[in-house]
Amino acid sequence: TQTVLEITGLNVDYGVGDQAVRAVRDVDLTLRRGEVLGLAGESGSGKSTLAYGITRLLPPPGVIRSGSVRYHPVDGDPVDVMALTPAELRRFRWAETSIVFQGAMNSLNPVHRISTQLLDVIKAHEPDMSAPARLARARELLKLVGISADRMDSYPHQLSGGMRQRVMIGMALALEPQIVIMDEPTTALDVVMQRQILGQLAELRERLGFAVLFITHDLSLLVEFSDRIAIMYGGRIVEEAPAAQLYRAALHPYTEGLLHSFPALRGPRRALTGIPGSPPDLRAMPPGCAFHPRCPRAFTPCDNELPVLGAPADDHPGRSVACWLHRSLESR
Ligand code: ATP
Ligand code: SF4
Ligand code: MG
Repeated sequence: TQTVLEITGLNVDYGVGDQAVRAVRDVDLTLRRGEVLGLAGESGSGKSTLAYGITRLLPPPGVIRSGSVRYHPVDGDPVDVMALTPAELRRFRWAETSIVFQGAMNSLNPVHRISTQLLDVIKAHEPDMSAPARLARARELLKLVGISADRMDSYPHQLSGGMRQRVMIGMALALEPQIVIMDEPTTALDVVMQRQILGQLAELRERLGFAVLFITHDLSLLVEFSDRIAIMYGGRIVEEAPAAQLYRAALHPYTEGLLHSFPALRGPRRALTGIPGSPPDLRAMPPGCAFHPRCPRAFTPCDNELPVLGAPADDHPGRSVACWLHRSLESR
């Protein structure tokens, strides 16, 4: 499978010096062409910071301390995202990688019709396109996200939250990007709506071929709609696997805890245990495995040696885990 985005050794801090919050730590992550990659983890684990980091949209005092992000266009040379100029970056963000933020549906301008807003996006990036062609494109995009032509001239307040979110997806797709990043909030969208939106995105990518990075707390949603899942804890990716395999058998005890925090999709009912304890303080991380204070299976190396993400010793092809239960102790 071809890679569309390659993140290597990414570290993102808020602030500098002793007081810096190291929100993303040594992240290696690959997004493949046309796949849906789900990113899950408790609140504060660094999911949004990762999304902002790779699109270079970090709010101050966020800084990328180290790492590289490489974008691989369909044809042409790989692009070093960290080296793009502001102008190149603006184009990159709409045309190659589009991001739909938490609460994006509220960022539509209330005083303009949705058709106007969509046409503006197209016009800004395709100045040579004729007006009728732009209008046709806008119609087509709205149709794609399930909004009929007679709603085009509505104002945002005349649409439901779900429809506004679909308009945002339509805008994100306006320039046929290769990557769509969607960052869902804890609270703003209910699960039913998230489900519809992710279902629709998954279907659209079948037709249009873009890759999706979908961020959510709702692991059950990811199990259902994504190809692969990455789990974050304390700023690190702690497990990565094809969705079905992760659901069948989590390797990392934290993933296991997350899976037991929602009802089984099918099969026997499981006890909903959740994960006791609370996420680590990023300013004062526990030594060793950051999860060890909460881990029911912690053993000798866990409280002073960091398990790095890598292939499990017990042979699960295509999977990675950062846990001493599955990493050979010789790799220390
Ligand atoms: P949620 O699921 O709640 O959206 P998240 O996984 O997206 O959480 P982030 O928003 O990336 O988490 O935050 C990661 C860490 O960085 C948190 O500890 C948070 O407090 C910290 N953080 C986020 N933004 C800032 C900021 N502007 N300044 C300082 N620290 C920040
Ligand atoms: Fe638990 Fe140790 Fe694995 Fe960390 S490394 S998840 S503490 S068993
Ligand atoms: Mg977030």
